[in-house]
Amino acid sequence: LPILELRDISFGYEKNRPVLHKLNLLIHKGEMVCIAGRNGAGKSTVSKLICGFYKPTSGSILMNGRDIAKDTIKERAERIGFVMQNPNHMISKTLLYDEVALGLKLRGGSEEDIRERVHHVLKICGLYVFRSWPISALSYGQKKRVTIASIMILEPEVIILDEPTAAQDYRHYNEMMEFLLTLREQGMTVIMITHDMHLMLEYADRAVVLSDGVKLADDSPERVLTNIEVVRNANLKETSLFT
Ligand code: ADP
Ligand code: MG
Ligand code: MG
Repeated sequence: LPILELRDISFGYEKNRPVLHKLNLLIHKGEMVCIAGRNGAGKSTVSKLICGFYKPTSGSILMNGRDIAKDTIKERAERIGFVMQNPNHMISKTLLYDEVALGLKLRGGSEEDIRERVHHVLKICGLYVFRSWPISALSYGQKKRVTIASIMILEPEVIILDEPTAAQDYRHYNEMMEFLLTLREQGMTVIMITHDMHLMLEYADRAVVLSDGVKLADDSPERVLTNIEVVRNANLKETSLFT
């Protein structure tokens, strides 16, 4: 049974302007799947539908075989962590430690245990030295890592990362990817939206390419990335992290 299944999903933000057309997508437990596609292809829309921010016009989304149409955003968030593309909303004066600890505090548990886990995740995300800084003082890349840390610490069944490597430096990128691999080994499913071919080849089990709201490719990263038409259509890039 797939952990996530999109069945014939159609959706548009505005009437007569469809964004997704009968999209079918299977995600298996423990997989790391990359979703690629040029700007406007519908990648972020797919994750917003999965998380319940919008309702599909038709079709259904199943989690472990169960239709989640009636599940609220909050209920879905317990099981599906979503790292949004743009963390620019993070202008708060909240201290970094408190922001990352919040989810665990809401769940309960000893302060000592929470501190240990927060420190661990902050170290992995290269944020430990900033732990008592206000979030508003952090750079774009650091804010992005805060959103990743806040989600990873809750260990959701599925984590969706929307262009996580944008604006990250090489060392933190590698550390984050290694941490995601560790979580995946423990059974977490990872969906990553990216243009980065290196990331796909190095880490993903499968690459899905969207084009105008339909699936153009769904195969091993090696096969997808050797299909020149697909690579061009999706505007795939060699990572800029190595240049
Ligand atoms: P991607 O993430 O692949 O770049 P998106 O899913 O963000 O693509 O967008 C798909 C299409 O939906 C684009 O044509 C975009 O302009 C449109 N779109 C995205 N968000 C909205 C919105 N909130 N309201 C109206 N149209 C939107
Ligand atoms: Mg976009
Ligand atoms: Mg997007």
